[in-house]
Amino acid sequence: MEDSIRDQFDHVPERISGLVDLAYNLWWSWNQEARVLFKQLNHQAWRRSAHNPIRMLREIPVEFLNQAANNPAYCRRYDIIMHRFRNYMNTTGTWFSENYANHPPLTLAYFSAEYGLHHSLPIYAGGLGFLAGDHLKEASDLGIPLVAVGFLYSQGYVCQQIDPDGWQEDITQPLDHDAAPITRVLDAEGNDLIVRVPNIDPPIYVAVWKVQVGRTPLYLLDTDIPCNNPENRGISARLYAVGLEQRLRQEIVLGIGGRRVLHTLGIEYSAVHLNEGHPAFALLERIRERVEGGMTFEEALEEVRATTIFTTHTPVPAGHDVFPLDLIERYFSSYYTALGIDRTRFLHLGANPEQPEAGFNMTALALRLSAHHNGVSRANGAVASDMWRSLWHGSGGDEAPADYVTNGVHLTTWLNTRMQALYNRYIGPTAPGWLAEHDNPLVWELIDEIPDAELWNLHLWLKAKLINRLRERERLRWTMQRVGSVEPGIGSAFLDPSVLTIGFARRFSTYKRAYLIFEDPDRLKRIVNNPWRPVQIIFAGKAHPADREGKRMLQRIYQHTQDPGFWGRVVFIEDYNNHVARYMVQGADVWLNNPLPPMEASGTSGMKAALNGVLNLSILDGWWLEGYNGRNGWAFGEGAADRDSRDSIDAAAIYDLLEREVVPLYYDRSIDDIPHGWVRMMKESIRSNAPRFSSRRMVKEYVGRYYPLLLKAAAGTPYAVSLIKDSQAQAWRGLAEGAGVNGHPFSR
Ligand SMILES: *Cc1c(COP(=O)(O)O)cnc(C)c1O
Repeated sequence: MEDSIRDQFDHVPERISGLVDLAYNLWWSWNQEARVLFKQLNHQAWRRSAHNPIRMLREIPVEFLNQAANNPAYCRRYDIIMHRFRNYMNTTGTWFSENYANHPPLTLAYFSAEYGLHHSLPIYAGGLGFLAGDHLKEASDLGIPLVAVGFLYSQGYVCQQIDPDGWQEDITQPLDHDAAPITRVLDAEGNDLIVRVPNIDPPIYVAVWKVQVGRTPLYLLDTDIPCNNPENRGISARLYAVGLEQRLRQEIVLGIGGRRVLHTLGIEYSAVHLNEGHPAFALLERIRERVEGGMTFEEALEEVRATTIFTTHTPVPAGHDVFPLDLIERYFSSYYTALGIDRTRFLHLGANPEQPEAGFNMTALALRLSAHHNGVSRANGAVASDMWRSLWHGSGGDEAPADYVTNGVHLTTWLNTRMQALYNRYIGPTAPGWLAEHDNPLVWELIDEIPDAELWNLHLWLKAKLINRLRERERLRWTMQRVGSVEPGIGSAFLDPSVLTIGFARRFSTYKRAYLIFEDPDRLKRIVNNPWRPVQIIFAGKAHPADREGKRMLQRIYQHTQDPGFWGRVVFIEDYNNHVARYMVQGADVWLNNPLPPMEASGTSGMKAALNGVLNLSILDGWWLEGYNGRNGWAFGEGAADRDSRDSIDAAAIYDLLEREVVPLYYDRSIDDIPHGWVRMMKESIRSNAPRFSSRRMVKEYVGRYYPLLLKAAAGTPYAVSLIKDSQAQAWRGLAEGAGVNGHPFSR
């Protein structure tokens, strides 16, 4: 911890001053005992800070800190947690070191435009960001040598308010740098490090911040500094800048600037992992460095390709960034020369063979410059392969189009802590503990040890907590801002914890079809208002500020929730964020997902729900094509239909499932008032999904599949691909093959 930060916290007593270190390492956020340590200082201060320990340590009255420092019980707890934290940070015995200890070190540089780590660091929009955040946390837990690069958006958090007409108002909240878990990166003289983005005129400079994600460092680029002209200062203002030129400059800074920053920091690495195409210019910069060092362009390109992983998510051509050629020429004319190639060759790197004149396509660029590319679910890998087949046309055919590594979620981030305690009690007794090997399906076979009553009662508690939190939010918004519903019966105050509760929360992109369940409002009214077996639905989500269609869709839904026929049964929760998301994926009974196939690259909120025992009711798309096994939730949407009839067919399938299966199963109680059939399905959902859709399985799969190849390419020496000694991998392989499921984690 730097002195400048230390000085700001000199009111924290020496005895417990480690709390400052803890607050500046996001490790605390996925370790529940560390969270308790902050919460114990003062419950109200913890809540007022919105569970942000840095803000809390700045604002809490000193008396509470002194009390804690003089409280032996607190200090004992503090000592053990600080011991665990330091142990975690210093240990050399990790999964990675056990399996790859004897190989030359090769650091992976992970690039992403967004990261969802914690709401005190709002540099994300949705699924792509949370995936990246979970990847970093897992890389830390497994000890993978990885450094990450992203942006520090100064206007990153867009708060959602819905006006009386249901229109989303976007209220930008400037980042409070003092309350975010970031520290400035300094140069050798102790001044703010400033790096110039090479070969771009007029020059762009970036300052750098560091976030410590457990063992994994994340470097964030910031152009809002005085040496930049006003236009360039705004490059890092918001996620996914609107306007092609600003967007291009953003991607230049992320890729080329990001690579340059790592170089300046002396962080040597020889492999890159791109999360989506936005940072693909980093690969050009890697080539340029090699050309500068004396290689030919083609040699450099080969070396960079062989040491690059590119993960693509977007299943439709319209979703990819394509820049007009004249814009590219304007920014890159001195760059071609530096690469040792001419304009034609350069523009070809970003050409989509099917529409070569359409512009410079970032996905085409990333695919051409990476030997390893993957989609994020089996279906998504196939879609990407089809979409980009022409890129491989005529290349001899030995090169497969996109492979796939199915996404996963970071277990201790998304699993409720009481649920975790329940698992500890019943599936924990096997050494070395289920948490340490939670990606091993065998561990989860013990789920049936949990008595139905315990799982059910905990679930009911979580549902009550969700509803309480939503009421609390509404109350606060109303008292503090005088906004919110004044109409009786509309708000969350009328939610009933005993009623079957469906959650639907995600970004309001049109392909997610949030409106679908209102396709036949009268039928839905009959379902939710059934006096003997009622149903309630909680909606939440934001549209991108520039997405008018998404906002119109949100407005339609909001207006439905105002219909007296839905009062008390269908609510819209304003300002969805990962705080709300956690309560929802832990406390709903059913998680509804109905995007338009094949648009859901993977989807991750359903995975979060599944591991908490929340049942998925989902269209067969993305991850659910691999997750659904007939006993662990509900699926629909098999038969392809044309776009026009698709909505009504899919909506009818949802109503049918609700009426015939979901609702009856939920209300089928035995004498002990427990729905044993439902609980059986909850257990099956946890058992079958938790290990496979964990980020632990995902990150091990990335490492197991690509790391040996990257090593081989980087070292330039022949390398046996089957380096894995992990007996667990062997066990999985047998299991995956035997069960005929996807996964074969390390067999390819
Ligand atoms: C997990 C998560 C998402 C992604 O959910 P999808 O189902 O993939 O759309 C989006 N937002 C938040 C806050 C999340 O936690």
